[in-house]
Amino acid sequence: MTPDPKPGTPYAMTDPLFPVHPPVPVAGCVSCESLAARREAARTALDHSARTDANVLLRLHLRQEHRT
Ligand SMILES: [Zn+2]
Repeated sequence: MTPDPKPGTPYAMTDPLFPVHPPVPVAGCVSCESLAARREAARTALDHSARTDANVLLRLHLRQEHRT
């Protein structure tokens, strides 16, 4: 079993729950920063479901607004 990451640990790109790279917010975009903050809050709270939601929304936003 993999232990849950503790609050305050740096964001790991090799998070076992997210084998693909998480979406990267675009600097200066209010929507990106809002979703990134939401994801960070969920990560700190160890709320994996909320973090997944934020990642999905951020990925969707990036595709629709930034064409990435
Ligand atoms: Zn954006």
